[in-house]
Amino acid sequence: MLSSLGQKLARELEFPAQINEGFFYGRIGGFPVYIHELPNRQLLLCVAAKPGPAGGAQLSREELAARLPDQKFAAVREVRPHEWQITAAERGASRTPGLLKELLSALRELLEEKHFVPCCVRCGAEEGISVYQCGEQMAALCESCAPEAEAELAGLAASVRQKKSSPGKGLLGALAGAALGGVIWVLIYRAGYIAALGGLALVFGALKGYELLGGRLDRKGTAASVAVSVVMMFAAMMVSYGWALYDIYAAEGFSFLDCVMAAPTAVLHFPDVGATFAVECAVGLLFIGLGGFSAICASYRRHNPVFAFRKLL
Ligand SMILES: [Zn+2]
Repeated sequence: MLSSLGQKLARELEFPAQINEGFFYGRIGGFPVYIHELPNRQLLLCVAAKPGPAGGAQLSREELAARLPDQKFAAVREVRPHEWQITAAERGASRTPGLLKELLSALRELLEEKHFVPCCVRCGAEEGISVYQCGEQMAALCESCAPEAEAELAGLAASVRQKKSSPGKGLLGALAGAALGGVIWVLIYRAGYIAALGGLALVFGALKGYELLGGRLDRKGTAASVAVSVVMMFAAMMVSYGWALYDIYAAEGFSFLDCVMAAPTAVLHFPDVGATFAVECAVGLLFIGLGGFSAICASYRRHNPVFAFRKLL
């Protein structure tokens, strides 16, 4: 997902952007340039180029680094036979656009000075180069490499889809993870803090547990993990309330288990206990929803990568 700064950079450079995939792309001179915004607020900038007939060899890493205008902003990641890869650290909305423009114009100057030519990053061909989205990455490819890259991606997609999760084991993992979350819920309650915060621990525990034992967190697994979290939340609440009863009734000879079993009756028969229960439930579910949503998005994305292949530019 392209951040608001990433979107601003694309606008200022007049580069088209793929907001969901987190990248923008264009050309400097005739050279395809594509920029990926990495999760750690770094930009990965790739230029598809190779030495032309009039030029010498591909630049070394050091030669390229020496030409970067601001060494604190940008650094060479890798110099490949047909591609330069440069990382840049975002520096806030006011400074980054200027720094990026400066970097691109320095690169353009260098490419022209050294007589480089645009090329396909796979085979180095100079004709018919377009920028393609290859799943979650971009690449400048020629017309014969593009179908090959597409077929490879399709093969990869098929193998990922074939790798099914094992729902039985996953459910077991979700139960174990959520049970740990439930323990945290009860401990927070006993410590006198807002127990509903434990909703986060429940849903994170369940998702992680499913992922660890089930292999792959797919749609079914995600739904099962959230359901297990909700059930475990009610169990944790009953243990918490039962424990509070036990504090009072232990002296009269009631066991801990008796008190936990009596907790639902207390909730139903005492309006003030019922009201507290309803509020805690609502806040707990809200936390499960909120905390779970981000975790679900992140891990779902990780386990279900994008396999789209299309020509961008
Ligand atoms: Zn090629």
